[in-house]
Amino acid sequence: MRKLFLLIALFPLCITLRAQQMPDLVDEVHLDSLIKTVREFSGEDSARIDSVTVRIKHRVSSRGNDLAAAYLVAKLKALGLTVMEDDYRSGGKNIIATKEGKVNPENIYFYGGHYDAVADYCADDNASGCAAVLECARITSKHCFENTMIFAFWDEEERGLVGSSFYAKAAAGRGDNILGVLNNDMLAYDSDSDHVFDIHADTAAYNLRMKDTLLYVLDTLGLDLKPQLLIPGTTRSDHASFWRNGYPAVFFGESFLGGDPNPHYHRSTDRIDKFNLEYFHELVKLGVGTMVQLAGIIPPSVEYDTISSCDPFLHRDSMYTSSALIRDTLKTVSGCDSIYELNLEIIDLSDSVIVDGRTLIAFDSTARYQWLDCADHSVLTGDTNQTFEVAFDGAFAVQISKGQCIDTSNCVQLLISSVDDPRFSEISVYPNPNDGLVFIDLPQQAEWVHVKLYSGQGVLVYSETFNEQTELQVEVPGLHGWYYLKVETDEFNWVQPLIIR
Ligand SMILES: [Zn+2]
Repeated sequence: MRKLFLLIALFPLCITLRAQQMPDLVDEVHLDSLIKTVREFSGEDSARIDSVTVRIKHRVSSRGNDLAAAYLVAKLKALGLTVMEDDYRSGGKNIIATKEGKVNPENIYFYGGHYDAVADYCADDNASGCAAVLECARITSKHCFENTMIFAFWDEEERGLVGSSFYAKAAAGRGDNILGVLNNDMLAYDSDSDHVFDIHADTAAYNLRMKDTLLYVLDTLGLDLKPQLLIPGTTRSDHASFWRNGYPAVFFGESFLGGDPNPHYHRSTDRIDKFNLEYFHELVKLGVGTMVQLAGIIPPSVEYDTISSCDPFLHRDSMYTSSALIRDTLKTVSGCDSIYELNLEIIDLSDSVIVDGRTLIAFDSTARYQWLDCADHSVLTGDTNQTFEVAFDGAFAVQISKGQCIDTSNCVQLLISSVDDPRFSEISVYPNPNDGLVFIDLPQQAEWVHVKLYSGQGVLVYSETFNEQTELQVEVPGLHGWYYLKVETDEFNWVQPLIIR
């Protein structure tokens, strides 16, 4: 029957709760992803740049490293970042990708490393650092941050920090508000697996604070790394360009100057097979965690709704027929994640009626009831129980309601005279309700018995003839709902409602 009312109650409630924090993002640093990037960027494997397959044979700037630059640009653009090719001079090009902060976009933190090289491969120096920065860009691109993050790939570091010097000097000239620069150069060599790594800072207070942030993240994440502080640290990598222009910067990487130098340094034997992968993975986690800490992640807002519905409920492309907890990730106007949690309650109202002799029984036992006379649709005053004793021949229905939902059953015909026919009372149908297997016991053997099943709309859905039997077995797999069971013999017709679950 048609539901008489449909009412949807909507109670929106906005709550912000703990969602993704720094350690959750660090969990997304995947060694597989790092290895793939290093192999492609150091020429072990071919790579795809704008659907063209290429092999980055080297990244030596004097021999032309535009292919390496194109690889970085394609990767960063695919992440939705704003990418700038910083052509600071003929033959030299930094690759700069920006993820703007949502609260303080003028506050800038850099994560960078040089992408040029002096020989073929040069996996540790510095495909490893580039892979770390790309991994950070990949993970953070899906989230929102308070401050701006810039992912920088410096050119011509090997010729004297040329690319980063041009950039840092120009930034100081513009007055860029750079609050910190994290430099990665060689992250993957650890011959004795002691997991010692070096942090290079200088004695300026703002550089010591950068160093402290690294140590805080190391401690918070419980990384398997042993820091060795070199203060004042080396000026042999790109962080020094920022020191010289008055910007806070820190450099961390393998213990190259601290006692475990890579013997393949600046040689074509510097390949990924020399990596200590576990150590590399830990150092990248430290870099990503530090950037997330500095940039300040904005956790997604969470909105809860509760909806009660009397009918199946359409949400996006899915039709829900039973209660469910639905969770969606949406985007706010600023492009940040917003999580929508919907507690959907489908109020299940069964409008079936069971006939038991002279008694009609509403199948739903948790509703409110009003019995009706179908002859004139009048209300039977006072008949408001789940069961209804029929006193006269007629057709009856029950209006059931639960919460805001109201439904009315089909009309059920009941002839008191036939109910009282003693032959019928001896027919036994069981179980009812059932799961599609029903037994019918007849009081006496008949030459033939037709058993038929009709839907509530009167459509014949099952028919079978039994000969000279008194114990009938009817199997109707795949049927669910409210039916009429009709038993016909040469002597009588008999009908009873049947509920199949
Ligand atoms: Zn280097």
